[in-house]
Amino acid sequence: MTQTIDSFEQLGLSAPILEALAGIGYETPSPIQAACIPHLMDGHDILGEAQTGTGKTAAFALPLLDRLDLSLKRPQVLVLTPTRELAIQVAEAFQRYARHLPGFHVLPIYGGQSMVVQLRQLDRGAHVVVGTPGRVMDHLERRSLNLDGLKTLVLDEADEMLRMGFIDDVEWILEHVPTERQTALFSATMPDPIRRVAHRYLRDPREVKIRSSTTTVATIRQRFCQIGIAHKLDALTRILEVEEDLDAAIIFARTKTATVELADKLEARGYSAAALNGDMTQQLRERVIEQLKGGALDIVVATDVAARGLDVPRISHVINYDIPYDTEAYVHRIGRTGRAGRTGSAILFVTPREMRMLKVIERATRQPIEPLQLPTREAVADKRVAAFRQQVAQVLQSEDLDFFEEVVAGIEAEQEAEVHAIAAALAFLAQKERPLQLPMGSGPDIAQLNAPRREREPRENRDEILERRRAASDGRLQRYRIEVGRNQMATPKDIVGAIANEAGIESRFIGQINLYEDYSTVELPADLPQDVLEILRRVRVRQRQLEISRFEGDAPPPRRPTRPRNQDFDSRKPSGENRFGERKPWAGGKPGAGKPAHQERGHDKPWAGKPAKKKGPREH
Ligand code: ADP
Ligand code: MG
Repeated sequence: MTQTIDSFEQLGLSAPILEALAGIGYETPSPIQAACIPHLMDGHDILGEAQTGTGKTAAFALPLLDRLDLSLKRPQVLVLTPTRELAIQVAEAFQRYARHLPGFHVLPIYGGQSMVVQLRQLDRGAHVVVGTPGRVMDHLERRSLNLDGLKTLVLDEADEMLRMGFIDDVEWILEHVPTERQTALFSATMPDPIRRVAHRYLRDPREVKIRSSTTTVATIRQRFCQIGIAHKLDALTRILEVEEDLDAAIIFARTKTATVELADKLEARGYSAAALNGDMTQQLRERVIEQLKGGALDIVVATDVAARGLDVPRISHVINYDIPYDTEAYVHRIGRTGRAGRTGSAILFVTPREMRMLKVIERATRQPIEPLQLPTREAVADKRVAAFRQQVAQVLQSEDLDFFEEVVAGIEAEQEAEVHAIAAALAFLAQKERPLQLPMGSGPDIAQLNAPRREREPRENRDEILERRRAASDGRLQRYRIEVGRNQMATPKDIVGAIANEAGIESRFIGQINLYEDYSTVELPADLPQDVLEILRRVRVRQRQLEISRFEGDAPPPRRPTRPRNQDFDSRKPSGENRFGERKPWAGGKPGAGKPAHQERGHDKPWAGKPAKKKGPREH
């Protein structure tokens, strides 16, 4: 296409659709729309690659609406999407674009929704069906969905469907719908298996690839912050307080449990936050999204799956609290902000061990990710004081304070105190719930920990610190009891995985694991801090909370001999390094016997050296 397209009229769309677009306020087609719409109107297959937020939905919805025969009330278009949320969103988009097409009917179908309702709706007929692969398959098998009249099949967010393991279902569907059809495949990335599907099922497709320089990513400012696990929450709250232009934020955490915990902690600190994850009912999830859209919520803490495809324009910030597993997930996550040409911010927390992943992401997105300097305690305090002053000014201006002036006069007379001092005391009281100053921790401020190190600490000093840390811990391993065992089909691998991922304890600090019928024992450092134990109490393995507790006394010998388990278990390590073998560094006989590996090697604590919690004002 040589001629540039700067209006929807030029694309040859019909009057009712143009009218709807004018009503919505789209001015010009986005690049993917300009490139795809003519091909789809001509009936060609399409292989479209463009990042999230580039307007792929309208790229297929507009031309397909244009080609519908509204007098035939049966599915002519089927759109497959990876998630229920996306199915709903795409159906809503069709509905909006079809506002002036009388009698138009679109139906979203997805798992979790009542089958009876769906069957009734399908019976009534729809021109367009948007569904998740599993549910669409169900209906095809029951013959409750008849696709004999299908003209076009769209695979939306194909890479996500692949990642979520739907690719077989998708292929099954491709093989069970009429072969005489148009097929369009859209994806933010084009991994090989998707290419293969395209090659196999698309006929002479027109390939449209929108280069990333013209996509949303360029309008998203990307920053990272190197931070230990134990400091993440503190770092997050500082960022939330000090960031400019913060409207709504979506925070990505790696596990469902983590989304709930983090949302709770943010709520306790006064934010309107909620979790969004796959454990929640469809209804609840929809409500959360509506609340975020409407402003009743400012922060949603989500897993990748639950947030896929989310389109909430007011999301100004994406915070990757836990680094994503791969670059595609990163691209999808940050695509939740900077929607429709707005600017957005993406912040990535990276633990020291994850710095390599940062490089991989930078390389893949071809975008530099700048270091973010964490706000200092003083910066946060400044911000809070400024807000406090403003509140005071507002009260001075707008409230009738006669009664309160009398109260103050009473205090003045009684205490013989200066009005200034009284005002200070009142300010102190007023900030008790939400202190104006961040509490002083026992260590250096995290803002300094995070700062790029220009001078190193003098050597004696570093050794001293290390020595103090060693002394603080007696280095023993302690046996803990967890309430999941063989009857729940738990394996040592599950247990190590859960403990390592959820509590951030590296697997090399996890000692022997013995499985019994309904519980197990696991060796962990004896001096695990309380908050790590708290986390571990709630971690789930095979649907059961670990309810971890110190195990006192002798454990009965495990039923199975230990050796086979030792061998089948830790497949991640070369055999010579077996964690449970005689060569375990703290297993005795050798110098330093009885000390866990991290002590011997002078490493930091497994939970990243969180300073001992001091009693004091609640952290905010
Ligand atoms: P993608 O599927 O590529 O991630 P969406 O189709 O969800 O992107 O569109 C992202 C956002 O851009 C939506 O809010 C949509 O309404 C908006 N949008 C799409 N096309 C246009 C356009 N031509 N002009 C303005 N906004 C648009
Ligand atoms: Mg999309």
